[in-house]
Amino acid sequence: MAQVVGPVKGTVAGFCVKCRAKKELKGPEEVVLKNGRRAIRGSCPTCGTTVYVFMGSRKRA
Ligand SMILES: [Zn+2]
Repeated sequence: MAQVVGPVKGTVAGFCVKCRAKKELKGPEEVVLKNGRRAIRGSCPTCGTTVYVFMGSRKRA
């Protein structure tokens, strides 16, 4: 399970595996996974699948 950090401002694009396309995520929120990695979780506006966008390479202060 992921711990929710908070909602994300603005729009976040993620790759939906079901649609096989990049989508603007619905209701994006920042989460921290069990392994300590941060990600943005949202749902695909087309099919409703949960999409994770990992922020591994982008470090924020
Ligand atoms: Zn989709």
